[in-house]
Amino acid sequence: MAVYRILSGSPGQPQGYGGGVVRRETRQTPEWSRGRGTISLVTRRLFYCDHYAIPLPPGHKFPAEKYALLRALLTADGCYDLQPAPLADPSAIELAHDAGYVRQFLNGTLDTRTMRRIGFPWSKELVRRTLASVGGTLAAAAEALATGFGGNLAGGMHHAFHAEGSGFCVFNDLAIAILALRRDGDIRRAAVIDLDVHQGDGTASIFEDDPAVLTVSIHGENNFPSRKQRSGIDIGLPDGTGDEQYLTRLREVLPAIADFRPDILFYQSGVDTLAGDRLGRLQLTHEGLMERDHAVFEFTKALEIRVVVTLGGGYADPIARTAEAHANTYRVAALVFTQPETPGGRAASLKC
Ligand SMILES: [Zn+2]
Repeated sequence: MAVYRILSGSPGQPQGYGGGVVRRETRQTPEWSRGRGTISLVTRRLFYCDHYAIPLPPGHKFPAEKYALLRALLTADGCYDLQPAPLADPSAIELAHDAGYVRQFLNGTLDTRTMRRIGFPWSKELVRRTLASVGGTLAAAAEALATGFGGNLAGGMHHAFHAEGSGFCVFNDLAIAILALRRDGDIRRAAVIDLDVHQGDGTASIFEDDPAVLTVSIHGENNFPSRKQRSGIDIGLPDGTGDEQYLTRLREVLPAIADFRPDILFYQSGVDTLAGDRLGRLQLTHEGLMERDHAVFEFTKALEIRVVVTLGGGYADPIARTAEAHANTYRVAALVFTQPETPGGRAASLKC
């Protein structure tokens, strides 16, 4: 059993805020410090789209600020090469979505009810941001094919269905990327592990009858959406679930993903499971979330499954808590994928 610690970088800052330092220790190895060392990191590319701002009315619930905050944290770390996401081509989007829905969103003719379900007012800026969000996941998927790991500092739009969006999700970048990779002959089988606190209902619905895609969702049973779809594996957790119970359930599903033998895993890494999240109902700590991320990345590393990380939800107050949790996901990835094997237990610290 290992444990993550966050080392605060600035005096007076509470743990878990802007430290930029993540350390993983092995509990049963008190002398763990003998093996630790600062990792010199291979530059890896991540894609962002927060520079395309969405005009929103005052008081809108979408946490627009977190994307720029996350990019600022990772820029300060210096672990990754951050690049603007390319805009997705509508022909790729139509692999997962109804052509009429795609066209109507792009030209601003979707009806009021459909836009209300999405939760954004339509604007040209929203179109550009949405195309970049999908493009970021497509670019991250290409990066994962080339290097084994790719990441998008947006995306994870798991509430988007074939012919309509929902819950701040217009197009399902996870589904689009899987179908694009398959169209191009790059993969045959894919899995999605969705650890957002809300069920990945759109993704589950799109792939419900597709035997070459396994969808896994671990979510709050009493949370949105009230009408759940059927994923390949669904784990609905009770309100108040904490680190230990959560991690136990996560570790229980990983063997099923291994048995499925996917060529690539898409990881929707929403952090709205964090204690105190305004829209979550679970009680995970920052350290628990890093253990979650570590379990997923170690799993893909051990089985040599390529992995694509997208964001997902996160609505903490202050929103800096959410940005920090998202940053930690990428810090843990950097740690796992660049960590040298140390005999007698793994221990490493990341300071970029
Ligand atoms: Zn969510």
